[in-house]
Amino acid sequence: MMLPQAPLQPLNLHWLAAAGIDVAILRLDLIDPVISGNKWFKLTHHLAAAKNAGAQGVISLGGAHSNHLHALAAAGKRFGFPTVGLLRGHPVQTPTVLDLEAFGMPLHWLGYAGYRARHEPGFWQPWRERYPQLYPIPEGGGGLDGALGCADIVSQAHAQLADLGWDDFDGWWLACGTGTTLAGLVLAEARQRKVYGAMAVPGDHGVAENVTDIVGPDASAGYELLDASRGGFAKIDAQLLDFIAMAENESGVPLEPLYTGKALLALRQAVEAGRISQGSRLIFVHTGGLQGLRSRCAMAGC
Ligand SMILES: *Cc1c(COP(=O)(O)O)cnc(C)c1O
Repeated sequence: MMLPQAPLQPLNLHWLAAAGIDVAILRLDLIDPVISGNKWFKLTHHLAAAKNAGAQGVISLGGAHSNHLHALAAAGKRFGFPTVGLLRGHPVQTPTVLDLEAFGMPLHWLGYAGYRARHEPGFWQPWRERYPQLYPIPEGGGGLDGALGCADIVSQAHAQLADLGWDDFDGWWLACGTGTTLAGLVLAEARQRKVYGAMAVPGDHGVAENVTDIVGPDASAGYELLDASRGGFAKIDAQLLDFIAMAENESGVPLEPLYTGKALLALRQAVEAGRISQGSRLIFVHTGGLQGLRSRCAMAGC
């Protein structure tokens, strides 16, 4: 599957200019109107593995706002393979869920306890029996296959450096949920450039373990994880919303408060704390997620 090219653009923000730091933003949110963000990159190797296994389609899991299931269902509809979604909790009609149904993805609601059982050894057995022709993809499109698909993020950026007038750059900055995308960048960079991961979940949520599982313990010099969660996943506060509104207005780049907004605010804090040296060039990865904004925004009142 050919991935569309994500544009690499200058990110114009006064606090970056004031600190003498150049940031370009790689717009994964623009690769496609519906299959948006890092989730398409994370899916490519899983879909290839499904094909190699002789599967006709794929089955995966997520919540009622899941960017992963959204990208998966959209890809299934676009490329003509069946998808099935296993959903956390009880039936609810979010904009994401309505899209999943419109994309033709049958949904099974597992409840909360049923969803928590997803890591138990026997979890997939009944689903394999019910859908023997479908290949299971882990939550969020994670694992080594998920990370390997993200190597394309690195090559897409490198291919556009000259257009920016850059001969090279110093590092990457991106939002982390599971850390799979970060792991893919670390593998592709092979320690040539540092990868900063702004965690959208608190530090005890297993991100570091997930990254180590994928990249190995020796790669730890190639990346750094920071807690950007502001007290918890999907916790939204007024300072964050103000920051996002200002940054969107100044840069013209749309953000959402769960991942990209928190990651950019964490970058500002790192810049103000003097942690990024003057003259540095960074690439901020816009990981997408704007589809999830529709109902969250209604909930948060933004
Ligand atoms: C899923 C997601 C992430 C996190 O990706 P991981 O590979 O799980 O770290 C970041 N940003 C957005 C917008 C996402 O949808």
